[in-house]
Parts: sequence; structure tokens; C-alpha cells
Amino acid sequence: MTFDQLSAHYHQPLFDLISESRAVHLSHWRGEEVQRCSLLSIKTGGCSEDCAYCAQSAHYSTAVEREELLSLENVLTAARRARSQGATRFCMGAAWRGVRDGSEKFERVLEIVREVSQLGMEVCVTLGEIGPVEARKLKKAGVTAYNHNIDTSPDFYPEIVTTHTFQNRLNTIAAVQESGMSVCCGGIIGMGESEADRLGMLEVLSNFDPPPESVPINCLMAMPGTPLADQPPVDIFELVRLIAVTRIALPKARVRLAAGRTRISREGQALCFFAGANSIFYGDKLLTAKNPAADVDVALLRELGLHIESKVTINDECLMTKE
Ligand code: SAM
Ligand code: SF4
Repeated sequence: MTFDQLSAHYHQPLFDLISESRAVHLSHWRGEEVQRCSLLSIKTGGCSEDCAYCAQSAHYSTAVEREELLSLENVLTAARRARSQGATRFCMGAAWRGVRDGSEKFERVLEIVREVSQLGMEVCVTLGEIGPVEARKLKKAGVTAYNHNIDTSPDFYPEIVTTHTFQNRLNTIAAVQESGMSVCCGGIIGMGESEADRLGMLEVLSNFDPPPESVPINCLMAMPGTPLADQPPVDIFELVRLIAVTRIALPKARVRLAAGRTRISREGQALCFFAGANSIFYGDKLLTAKNPAADVDVALLRELGLHIESKVTINDECLMTKE
């Protein structure tokens, strides 16, 4: 979609906008279904990059403690726990700029992916910058989706990150697309960007070919010690508008209400689901930040009459079931 088309959708009266996005949603998805993804940080903190929102950057003094790459055993324990709590997608994130074929850490990641992919959940990884060789090997090891967020508009990106470029991000995404893994790509709002930056980000996402399979919309978690520590929370109606326009622009993508849900009321989250969000991060911790407790989420989804999508694997056949 063009910027002008996105802007026209965005600026409708709110109820017209969410009626339209709901209709688009219902023509592509079961309206009552919400996917739950679990997220694990497999390597934490000490990152060389200077992303202004990130508590894992070594450039800032934050409360995050560094941890080396987790052992295969520890990752498997966390993945089994996530599955037993009902997660159907398991996402593993690493705080580093990227990984290269031939390195010991890449071999260890491949081994982790091979084992986790046997558990019957979709496997997603977010490992920063990779090229075509790494992408092919990850796909072969069993990765379903690769997350690599563009985070904001091309214009605003240099205000947020100086150690790599927006084009570096696009190059990784192209390598992922080429490998056949699905692309999970979205961004963050509440970093001081303008409305035009938010729509500019959606313009880039909506022109991906193929379109992203999932689009996380994060609200900034203002992390103490980072340059964005004092940013105010995102206005709920701005978030709902952005989710609705994302749903209209990318009808087949899972739109994920990602980081920042601890600062959104139950009513606010309900509006986001109505407007087109159909996936959440689930479990009380995101990579390093807080998330609503799993039982609080289950209670909210039940109260709204939303079904929790869960996947059961029997003799390697995946059956989608609902609670
Ligand atoms: N290092 C890899 C990378 O940069 O792609 C993967 C990990 S990184 C932590 C994954 C994503 O988490 C970022 O692209 C960003 O969208 C999101 N994120 C990180 N810190 C955040 C924060 N404080 N608030 C909201 N989203 C955040
Ligand atoms: Fe490093 Fe990723 Fe955090 Fe940027 S977002 S500092 S690349 S972990």
C-alpha cells in the first residue's frame, strides 16, 4: 500500500476504521482465535549495537545481566515448559549483532533449533544479522520463521540506531525470504517517532514480497538506563489505529500485540484484538522485560470469549485444537 492509502485508512473516524479492519480480519481469520507465542532469551545482554530502546545494549548501563548462550538442555527445558503451558510457537532471541556460518555459536544455535523443532511447536528465532548461507542452514535445521524487526521508518531509524543501518535490516530480511523461512517483522511505537514514521514503517512492511507472515507491534518498554527511559506510554487509540491499519494492509499476517502489554489496560487489549491483533507473547517474561502473567492472559482471553489456539502433536501430526 502507498503512504497516502495507509494515511487515509488511519485517519477515518475510529469506529469506521475498526469496523473496516474487523471485516478484513473476519474474511481471513477466525475472529475468536488468538495465538500464544512463548519467548526465550538464549543469549542475554552485552550486545555491541546501540539500539536506543534496548536494555541489552552494552552501550548503556541497565539492570540486565549478561548471560552467555544457554545450554541445549536449558533451552529444551524452557521449550517443553512453554508447550505444556499451551504455547504453539516458541521464539528464541539472542542479543548480538548477528551470526556467521562457521562460528561455534552458529553451530550451537543450529543444534538447539534441530532439537526444539522436534517438540511440535513452530520455531522462530531472532538472531540479528544473517546472510543467505545462514538463512538456508537455519531453515534446514527446522526454523519456521525468522524475526527481524525494521522497528520504525527508514527516516527515523538513524535516530534510534547508529551501529547498523536500515538497509542492513532489509538485507537480512531478503536473505530470509530467499531461504523460504517466513518473515516475522514489525516495529516499536512510542520511541518519539511521528505518526508519519509509524505509517512509513507500515508502508515498507506492506510492500514486502512476499508479505511478512507475522507483524509484531511493540509498544516501547521504557527501560531504565537506555536513552528512551523517560518516554511516556503510547496512547491507546493510536495503538488501536495502527493495529487496525496493519490488519487492513496485511490481511493474511498474524498481527502480534507484542511488548508493552503490561502498560495496556484489559479494555485496551480487548480493543486491539477487535481491531485485528491475533497473537500475543505469552509467559511472564519477554526477552528481558516483564509481560502479563500467563494465568492473567488466559483469564482475559476467556472473559472476552476468545479461543486459545493450541497445538497437539500426535505421532508427528499436528492437530490444531481450541480451548
Ligand atoms: N538482536 C536481535 C535483533 O536486534 O534483531 C534480536 C533481539 S531484539 C531484542 C528483538 C526485538 O525486540 C527488537 O527488534 C525490538 O523490536 C524488540 N525490543 C527490544 N527492546 C524493546 C523495548 N524496550 N521495547 C519494545 N520492544 C523492544
Ligand atoms: Fe542488540 Fe538486538 Fe538489542 Fe539492538 S535490539 S541492542 S541488536 S539485542
